[in-house]
Amino acid sequence: MTRSLVTPVLVVGGGPVGLVLAMCLARHGVEVLVAEMRHRGEPPSVKCNHVSARSMEIFRQLGVAARVRDSGLPAAHCHDVAYRTTTTGVELARIMIPCRRDRFSDTHGPDGHWPTPEPPHRINQLYLEPVLASCAQAMPKLRIANRLQVLDVAQDDHGVTAEARDLGTGERVQIRCQFLIGCDGGSSLVRKKIGATLSGTDFIGRTQSTFIRAPDLLKWLKHPPAWATFSVNPRRCGNVYAIDGVERWLVHNYLRHDEADFDAVDRDRAIRQILGVGSEFRYEVLGQEDWIARRLLADRFRNRRIFICGDAAHIWVPMAGYGMNAGIADAENLAWLLAAHLHGWAPEGILDAYERERLPITEQVSRFAMDHALALQRQREAVPPDIEAETPQGEAARAAAGRALYELNVQQYCCAGLNFGYHYDDSPLIAYDAERAPAYTMASYTPSSVPGCRTPHVWLRDGRSLYDALAAESPTYSLLRFDPRVDVAPLLDAAHRRRMPLALLDVDVPDAAALYGHALVISRPDRHVAWRGAAAPIQPLNLIDRLRGAVGPSPSAGPRFSGPSLH
Ligand SMILES: Cc1cc2nc3c(=O)[nH]c(=O)nc-3n(C[C@H](O)[C@H](O)[C@H](O)COP(=O)(O)OP(=O)(O)OC[C@H]3O[C@@H](n4cnc5c(N)ncnc54)[C@H](O)[C@@H]3O)c2cc1C
Repeated sequence: MTRSLVTPVLVVGGGPVGLVLAMCLARHGVEVLVAEMRHRGEPPSVKCNHVSARSMEIFRQLGVAARVRDSGLPAAHCHDVAYRTTTTGVELARIMIPCRRDRFSDTHGPDGHWPTPEPPHRINQLYLEPVLASCAQAMPKLRIANRLQVLDVAQDDHGVTAEARDLGTGERVQIRCQFLIGCDGGSSLVRKKIGATLSGTDFIGRTQSTFIRAPDLLKWLKHPPAWATFSVNPRRCGNVYAIDGVERWLVHNYLRHDEADFDAVDRDRAIRQILGVGSEFRYEVLGQEDWIARRLLADRFRNRRIFICGDAAHIWVPMAGYGMNAGIADAENLAWLLAAHLHGWAPEGILDAYERERLPITEQVSRFAMDHALALQRQREAVPPDIEAETPQGEAARAAAGRALYELNVQQYCCAGLNFGYHYDDSPLIAYDAERAPAYTMASYTPSSVPGCRTPHVWLRDGRSLYDALAAESPTYSLLRFDPRVDVAPLLDAAHRRRMPLALLDVDVPDAAALYGHALVISRPDRHVAWRGAAAPIQPLNLIDRLRGAVGPSPSAGPRFSGPSLH
């Protein structure tokens, strides 16, 4: 017997990216089914620990940011990153990041001044996914089918058919949909089915990753606990993430070049060297998931009605905490494009924007991550032999190492550029003008209203975040007006004629007017600038048609991305 299901959109994989994609679609009023192999409530592997500000902004729109922020480490547990000779050894440097209790009141740290209503959050995937899953399950247009494994996908001119198996009963299930998105992780079946191939750097380094329970570790620390504690010594470099802030820890042991496979290294000995403890120290292994750092990117993110998102489309070393976060940005992007098309106001051409926008950005982020991983490798290989010596030379070595560690790592742990700086340079949906977007680095960012950039965040007079005031559902474009004398009727009429949702928002904040520098700015549903001007354009229908994907690439668009355009 084969069971048949029909849905407008099928998401294969209910990891963090699949869940966010489905939630964004449901919020835009699109019915969506998620097929997930795991049992309902089955924990994911203990991987990701950092949720970027940009992802938290998306969670805010979805109404789950507060629940996510209230989960994870205890409210007063430090989110700092500490560098020590060993976990229990001498501290060399500390990057201050407020605990979640103080996240909105303590602005002293390197990310304290960020222009966002939602600063980053430190939380392990173990805690994050259940929050996302329970919120997703409560959404009326969203269904999650657990224990359902998709085995094959095929498309025709009218839709996609997925063949699946119920892992509980063994029953065959056939699902017919208009669009299918593979959020099925690094070994994605969907990626293979659309003929995409991964390319890049398939080996950067090996990490032995062990999830442990060590109830006594807190008592052994000489310094206050941190969220991440790096061990820097000539014997063994590694990192320990606090998972519950009490007794569970994730220990990463970075293998050296001469350690050619995972089994070549005695795991227990390495863990004790990283922690800086002897054989008397008790701990229990809860799990292990060794991984190879790579930089791989799919050469296409779409084949007609089938798309890939998240790790299915790109896998790289999780530097700067940007693996899942890049996937969540893919998901938000694709969700509004699909919704605009399925609601009937945007032709299929709007879907071309997904790959045109996201592929170059993920390429950029992957290079940032790899370059950073290589810089860290070099730093580990150059640990001074006397870093633990109780001598003036040892003290000087520790001070110098501490400065270097801070300088290099504050860029990845407080990466304003990766959060806010990236811009879409070659989108068919954006009306570019003569000004180029400001350059950015991993850590630095200049807010800008240049089309393609993130819509700069400001606080409104009534204390609300601009982002909370932007029209959220449907999806809807927002017309920001900084001068109430400017006539917007032609633009609103043109949007109305094309049935494209466009909501006017008057922004009466002098600083914002100066920052934006134009009387009118159109912000997309994903908070990127689509157009700006001093007045409505003479032919507003042409602009509206561009925004809804009804015309080809803009003649004024910049050249297609051909490598990292970072300065
Ligand atoms: C050690 C480590 C630390 C990391 N830290 C961070 C970090 O701090 N920040 C960050 O942003 N990223 C981090 N990452 C990366 C992050 O974990 C991944 O990018 C993220 O999990 C990708 O999410 P995803 O939903 O795309 O894929 P996955 O999490 O792999 O989810 C895929 C889902 O699809 C399901 N599935 C697969 N095939 C099928 C099928 N055929 N049918 C049905 N279901 C299927 C799977 O069961 C799974 O639930 C880290 C990674 C590692 C290894």
